[in-house]
Amino acid sequence: MTSQNRQLHVFFFPFMAPGHSIPIIDLAILFAGKGVKSTIIAPPSDAAHISKVTEKARNSGYEVDVLDIEFPVAEAATKLLKRPLEDLIRQHRPHCLVSDIFFPWTNDVAAASGIPRILFHGTCAFSFSAMEHVLLYEPHKNVSSDSEPFLIPNFPGDIKLTRSQLPEFGKQETGFTKLFNEFIESESKSFGVIVNSFYELEPVYADHHTNFLGRKAWHVGPVSLSTKGIIDKTNRGKQSSIDENKCLNWLNLKEPNSVVYVCFGSMADFDSCQLIEIAKGLEASGQSFVWVVRNEKEKLLPEGFERKMEGKGLIIRGWAPQVLILENEAIGAFVTHCGWNSVLEAVSTGVPVITWPVAAEQFYNEKLLTEILKIGLGVGARKWKRLVGDFVRSEAIEKAVREVIMGECAVVMRNRAKRLAEMAKKAVENGGSSDSHLNALIGELKSLSP
Ligand code: UDP
Repeated sequence: MTSQNRQLHVFFFPFMAPGHSIPIIDLAILFAGKGVKSTIIAPPSDAAHISKVTEKARNSGYEVDVLDIEFPVAEAATKLLKRPLEDLIRQHRPHCLVSDIFFPWTNDVAAASGIPRILFHGTCAFSFSAMEHVLLYEPHKNVSSDSEPFLIPNFPGDIKLTRSQLPEFGKQETGFTKLFNEFIESESKSFGVIVNSFYELEPVYADHHTNFLGRKAWHVGPVSLSTKGIIDKTNRGKQSSIDENKCLNWLNLKEPNSVVYVCFGSMADFDSCQLIEIAKGLEASGQSFVWVVRNEKEKLLPEGFERKMEGKGLIIRGWAPQVLILENEAIGAFVTHCGWNSVLEAVSTGVPVITWPVAAEQFYNEKLLTEILKIGLGVGARKWKRLVGDFVRSEAIEKAVREVIMGECAVVMRNRAKRLAEMAKKAVENGGSSDSHLNALIGELKSLSP
C-alpha cells in the first residue's frame, strides 16, 4: 500500500476548557470525515461526555475514539501529563499529534516519538499575530498612560490599542509571561498551526502570519459549520440546561432579526452589580432577549426580573445550546465577550455582534469585528480584567442593543454579517478554501508517514 492510500491516525489533545475542547472535538470529526482515524485524548471525567457528543458521527461510520488520560487539576501541572501521553503514543502509534497551545511541551513528546506536532491555538491569525507583534515591539512602553492609544508596529491595518486593554502579563513580567513566551516559541517550532478560521475572513492577516511571522498554517474553519448534522449541537461542550425544543419554540414566535442573544462564554464571571446593569439595559432597550446566566448567579438577578420579562426575555441558567440559538433567524444581535469560538459562531450564522471583551485575546478579536469586518459595535468595555471584565453601565448596553437591532447602521451591518456567513459556508464546502487547506494538510501528513 502506498503512503497516499494508507489510513492516517491522528491524536487530538485538547486542553479541557470548553473554549479549547469544543473546536478540537469538531476538528477530530472533520478529520474523520476525510477517512482519518481520529483519537481524542481526554481525562476520564470528560471522556464520557465527549463520547456522547461524537456518537452520531460514529454511527455515521466516522472513526472517532476517545482515550482516557489522567489529568492533574492545576493548569501549571499539565507537564505531569508528559509520561502518560508518551505511553499512549507508544501504545497506539499515531502518525501525528494535534495539541492545544497550552501544551507547548508536546513538541518534545512528538519529536521523541518521531511524529509531527501540529499546534491548535484556537484563535484567528489576526489576533495571534497582533499579540506577537505587541510582545515583540512593546509599543505600550512608549505611551504615557493606560488610556493613550498606541499603534501595533509593522502590522497591517493601523490597529491601535491601549495599555488598559492588555493583560497584566503583557505589560510587565509576571509568572504567566514566561508561559506565554513558551506558547509562542512552541508555535514557531511546531510542524505547523491549524487555525479555526477561513482564509477569506482575514486574507491579509493569514498571509501576514505566514509571510512575516513565517508560520506554516492551515485555515480549516469554521469547524462548527463543517460538523453540522454529525455532532450533537444541543450538548456541545456541556449538557444543555434548557430543553432544545422549548428554546427553539420560544424563538420561533419572534420576528426575524429581533432578538438579542447575551452570553459571555464559559469563563467570564460578572458580579451582582454588573448583572443588574445588564438586566436594566436589556429591559430599557425594549427588545426581546435570550440571556445566559450561570447557574450560581441566578440569585443575583434583580428580584422579580424574570417574571416581569416573561414572553420578552428568556433566561437560560447554566449552559445554552449556543449554536442552535444563533442559527435561529429570530436572532438579530449577539452580546459577546469576543471569545474566538463565539465570534466565529456569530460569523458563521450571520449575526452582528455587540462586543464586550473581558480578558484573554478578546480585545484583539473585538478590533477584527468592529474595525476590519465591521459587523459589530463596542459596548464600551475598556479594561482587560480576568473573569470580571470592565464595568459597563445599563445606558451603554441599551444604546448598543438598539443601535445593532434597529439603528442607522443595522441593515448594513446585518448584510455584511450575512455575506460573511455565505463566505464561511462556501469555505467549508467541497473545494472551498478550508476544505482545500484540510486536504492539503492530510496529504502532507500522509506523505510524511512511512
Ligand atoms: N457555549 C455554549 N453554551 C454556553 C456558553 C458557551 O455552547 O452557554 C460554547 C460556545 O458556543 C463556544 C464556547 O462554548 O463554542 C465558548 O468559547 P469562547 O471561545 O467563545 O469563549 P470562552 O468560554 O473560551 O471564554
